[in-house]
Amino acid sequence: MESERTENVAILVAIKPVDLQGRVVIPTDVRSVYGIQWGTYVEFLVDGDLIIVRPFQPHDACTLCGEIVTHGGVLYMGKLVCTECREDMVRKVSSLSADD
Ligand SMILES: [Zn+2]
Repeated sequence: MESERTENVAILVAIKPVDLQGRVVIPTDVRSVYGIQWGTYVEFLVDGDLIIVRPFQPHDACTLCGEIVTHGGVLYMGKLVCTECREDMVRKVSSLSADD
């Protein structure tokens, strides 16, 4: 996809129909450029007559698994890691140590 990002100027990329369930397919080129894959959460914002769809990157999501961290997360090198990922890392590191 060829596009020049210009501040406050929206570029028409595609026109897509909404299906019976209210779904719209995000064009392949747009998914590629914005790193949207199966399972990626996107957020919808509205601004007047504009609907903005963008990848959801919450500040409170685990860096490793992307799950929302509601409690027990730890910051490691400035990145938030959820309890499950932290415990998984500890188990894996412990098993590596046990192999020595
Ligand atoms: Zn995690």
